[in-house]
Amino acid sequence: MSLKDKGEIFRKIPSVDRLLNGPELTKISSKFPRNLILRAINQVLEEVREDIQKNDVIESPGELKIKEVSKKVVDRLQLLSRPSLKPVINATGVIVHTNLGRSLLTDRVIKRFRPLSEGYSNLEYDLKSGKRGSRYSHVEGILKEITSAEAAMVVNNNAAAVLISLDTLAKGREVIVSRGQLVEIGGSFRIPDVMGKSGAKMVEVGTTNKTHLWDYEEKIGPDTALLLKVHQSNFQIVGFTEEVETSELVALGKKYGIPLMEDLGSGCLVDLSKYGLLKEPTVQEVLANGVDLVTFSGDKLLGGPQAGIILGRKDLVEAIKKNQLSRALRIDKLTLLALEETLTLYRDERAAVNEIPTLEMICQSYDGLDKKAQKLTEMLTGSETENYTLVGIDGHSRIGGGALPLQKLPTRLLCLTPKKMSAQEMEGWLRSYDPPIIARIETDQVLLDMRTIREKELKTVAQALKKLAIA
Ligand SMILES: *Cc1c(COP(=O)(O)O)cnc(C)c1O
Repeated sequence: MSLKDKGEIFRKIPSVDRLLNGPELTKISSKFPRNLILRAINQVLEEVREDIQKNDVIESPGELKIKEVSKKVVDRLQLLSRPSLKPVINATGVIVHTNLGRSLLTDRVIKRFRPLSEGYSNLEYDLKSGKRGSRYSHVEGILKEITSAEAAMVVNNNAAAVLISLDTLAKGREVIVSRGQLVEIGGSFRIPDVMGKSGAKMVEVGTTNKTHLWDYEEKIGPDTALLLKVHQSNFQIVGFTEEVETSELVALGKKYGIPLMEDLGSGCLVDLSKYGLLKEPTVQEVLANGVDLVTFSGDKLLGGPQAGIILGRKDLVEAIKKNQLSRALRIDKLTLLALEETLTLYRDERAAVNEIPTLEMICQSYDGLDKKAQKLTEMLTGSETENYTLVGIDGHSRIGGGALPLQKLPTRLLCLTPKKMSAQEMEGWLRSYDPPIIARIETDQVLLDMRTIREKELKTVAQALKKLAIA
């Protein structure tokens, strides 16, 4: 197509004014704010221009007719006026899915949100003295109670917990860390970068696969402020490997009077090996081992809201609380409430495992998952299956969130084999459903993992599958 022809087409694009005053948009203009209508028009026109620019052939010149473009604008308005952040159904089988919001909160938490958010609260107000209080006081007691830590503090997330701890304890000084633990967590949280931001100097010791106690000891000098251990949460080095035991590092720290900090990442408060999972050291065990400071996330294995928890020696935690950074990293009141309520459940381990959705999903039995699959299949009996065949198969779910990377959880999956569309198209169809259903693809099949689909979501999934069958 010649440049002249293209110019001709560009000139056919309707103007903003013509669209705005055309019959299609006049009809609905009272229903939407003017700015939103303009935003929709501009987005659609931009796309029309891009299309012309990209394509040599305009498939149908009719696309440029005012009526067609107006229709696109109306569709876009519907889309733009809906909330951006919305619930989705997680059928991926990854329980602590960072992209899907990590941990689900229990009903108890949700019930407490309303009264706390529609009224004032004692967030930083001491009701006894009538004076200013501390927002941390609401979770300090319960954290100390369930972990036996000497002191506790919470911040916005675990990245912040690591940052403020390093900044407080080691700014301008040296932190010794094993090369095997210089990890990157999803979303580009890298230990060396966080160290850089905190102003601490990183002293790497050992090699990727092996670090010995003497590697640490050799580097201890007058400028050493901290020994750091980072839990290898999202990967494992196997084969010819050696890491220094926590107890040995504790002893080394004691010998030289240097605190040992461990970034636990997930931070589990229940020994999951009791439920048939691989052994992951619990927060309580790490503290009992003598580690001076531990940090972990609130929304990974703990199963609460996004938060970073710092536990350990009183003098260290008090120093962290006084750091000016804490003002920038501070936790919001709704988060505090969710954290307090979630932690309270840990007073009774059985209640925690039954009621905290993250733990409940991890501990779901294969039989329970199979029942869920059967229930869903029964909801579909008698409906059309023009577009796919459906069978139940065995497979594995993952915990996610960088926890227990080697742990495979046996699960039951519904496997959709597409007949007409591709697996990618089918996955995309489910993703654009309302509410979106996020599935995974394996060898040209679309898999729905029963573990992360909630009981109350089964009906919605069944409805979606019925529509997909004839889509
Ligand atoms: C997940 C993780 C972090 C980051 O925690 P966020 O709560 O996501 O900020 C830091 N360190 C380790 C080892 C982790 O696994």
